[in-house]
Amino acid sequence: MTTDTTRNIGIMAHIDAGKTTTTERILFYTGKSHRIGEVDNGEATMDWMEQEQNRGITITSAATTCFWKGHKINIIDTPGHVDFTAEVERSLRVLDGAVAIFCAVSGVQPQSETVWHQANKYNVPRIAYVNKMDRVGADFLSVIEEMEKKLGASPIPVQIPIGRESDFAGIIDIVLMEEIRWDPESLGTEFVRVPISSENQPLALKWRQHLIDTLSSRSEEMTDLFLEGKEIPPELIRSVLRTETIAERLVPVFCGASLRNLGVQPLIDGIIDFLPAPEELPPIVGHHVGKDREVKVERSLEGPALGLVFKIQNDREAGPMCYIRMYSGTLKSGVAVFNIDKKKRERINRLLRMHAAKYEQIDSVSAGDIAVVIGFKSAQTGDTIGTEGFQVMLERMHFPEPVISVAIEPKTLSERDKLKEVLDLLSREDPTFFWKEDAETGELIISGMGELHIDVLVTRIIDDYKVGAKVGKPQVTYRESVSKEVLHTEQYSRIVAGKENVAQITLEVKPLERGTGNRFTSEVSKDKLPQPFIDAVKRGVEGGLTSGVVYGYPAYDIGVTLKDAVYNQLTSTELAFEAAGSIGLDNACRKAEPVLLEPVMQIDVTCPKEFMGEVINGITMRGGMVQKIDSKAAVELIHAEAPLERMFGYSTALRSTTQGRGTYSMQFSHFQKKIEKAVAGVK
Ligand code: GDP
Ligand code: MG
Repeated sequence: MTTDTTRNIGIMAHIDAGKTTTTERILFYTGKSHRIGEVDNGEATMDWMEQEQNRGITITSAATTCFWKGHKINIIDTPGHVDFTAEVERSLRVLDGAVAIFCAVSGVQPQSETVWHQANKYNVPRIAYVNKMDRVGADFLSVIEEMEKKLGASPIPVQIPIGRESDFAGIIDIVLMEEIRWDPESLGTEFVRVPISSENQPLALKWRQHLIDTLSSRSEEMTDLFLEGKEIPPELIRSVLRTETIAERLVPVFCGASLRNLGVQPLIDGIIDFLPAPEELPPIVGHHVGKDREVKVERSLEGPALGLVFKIQNDREAGPMCYIRMYSGTLKSGVAVFNIDKKKRERINRLLRMHAAKYEQIDSVSAGDIAVVIGFKSAQTGDTIGTEGFQVMLERMHFPEPVISVAIEPKTLSERDKLKEVLDLLSREDPTFFWKEDAETGELIISGMGELHIDVLVTRIIDDYKVGAKVGKPQVTYRESVSKEVLHTEQYSRIVAGKENVAQITLEVKPLERGTGNRFTSEVSKDKLPQPFIDAVKRGVEGGLTSGVVYGYPAYDIGVTLKDAVYNQLTSTELAFEAAGSIGLDNACRKAEPVLLEPVMQIDVTCPKEFMGEVINGITMRGGMVQKIDSKAAVELIHAEAPLERMFGYSTALRSTTQGRGTYSMQFSHFQKKIEKAVAGVK
């Protein structure tokens, strides 16, 4: 690789596989070689590492920059918990490659599967790292096999461990055909490359052969050398591996034991060698607001400024810190930019680059890079930042629908305003967290993706923001939809302050495919009904859709088309058309056989074999359906779907059926027609 390139990478792992430990080691070794150069005796380095651990910076910073052999690596934090899939997805959006960490003992676990498939969805090239080679039961090759079987991946070992468990001593680099051995006295900072011992020769040759066999058909140059029986240079192997990795056809596999400081430096080399630099990627696709069509934006430094806010963290002193990933052009500190989603000019007061131990003020951030903007007032996670002259909106992030809501009440009335402020801050940070004030009761209602999600946020409100608050019982947020296509004409006529307000519209209301969302279109020409009046109908319809039509829940997957309108220059008003839109929608939906929809959750339970029967029973009794059971050596993985409504308190139930040995994760899957009480809730 040429020098001074950038990598935007994420480290993804099942909980406990060693993401935190490995990240800390990466920051330690990169910091050591380029930033903390003066720290060079063992004790001092250890101190530094412990301080870092205590401060927990790798967890709290959404993107941390470090340097390795002249290259810049931005490590984007990806949360491990599958209940926060939205968090995982939004970080996958902005990274260009990832290191997938697996535990050498437990292998590919259900959550790693979920995250792996998400990474496929976002086309993220990956390298893999099999960690904990020092643990009892470590089995490198079995992890490789599981990657093939469970993930459908094509792993290709580029290293082979020397020994395992307490005998894990180093690594055979099968690209360079050398052994790498670490000096345990030096915290793993010192390591040597030595010729492969005669004892390890057969193993090394076997895997070298495997590597060459896999790669030779993928490069003409390599095929030729191979056929001529010539030595294949490591640079060629690396470059073919790089191409195949970036194209997501192969996943190079590394190994190590991060806790023992073994294996991390070659992994960092692998990040540089095999994962793409931003400018190598195809142009980014966005939506040109003015031209109303898709455009491709080159990832060039000279282009118009274009970036995406992918995370907001509130800092007590600095205020909202907006993490931005730049795709094109440059943003400068002290300059006004344009928030394309909010249609608002915003000012960059300061730009920061976050490092492991500190942050650094910078003047500008350019295409391919990541920085923190201080000063944005209206930005939310997912907003595109650009210029007024070049309004291209990057694809919105898709966040799951909130499925659970709960009333929250301040301990004292005087804390109510503070609570509202905090709810505002938190919902800017987290696009799957919403709050509203009930128009009738004045109650504050918060909603999110599950019990755990709400718990975490309520804890933050109380502990971090010191607002006394208590919450009620969680409720499922239903949706409503229609099941029939209807045509409805609404005539509206009111006399307000002696003036006539008249409107007539014909709406077509029909069900859309599940998961589409609501859609309003107009087929009425602007000659027949002036644009401001069409907009008024749209406002009326959209307002009606959000607040619920028949049962009072938000509408879902309803398509509304304005088919016809009667307009009178003298008596028609925008107000009348807006009202006709909202009342007309209501009446049309009543005719269109309204249905109530309930959220169905995907549940993955892991439990020891002896509890399987009871666990399945429990799920069935809650109205759930078991879809698949995977048997592992000692445990069963049960995949099921069940209505959220019946899953409240499941963690307690599972704990008691499995004597505390079962674990589960739950995430929103889809909405489904709720049958029993379909009519009971009609207002
Ligand atoms: P995360 O949940 O993926 O962030 O995992 P952590 O980095 O917090 O590690 C989980 C546990 O595994 C901790 O107790 C670590 O000390 C331990 N651990 C991490 N890496 C290794 C390793 O290479 N070998 C061993 N034996 N334990 C490790
Ligand atoms: Mg961790």
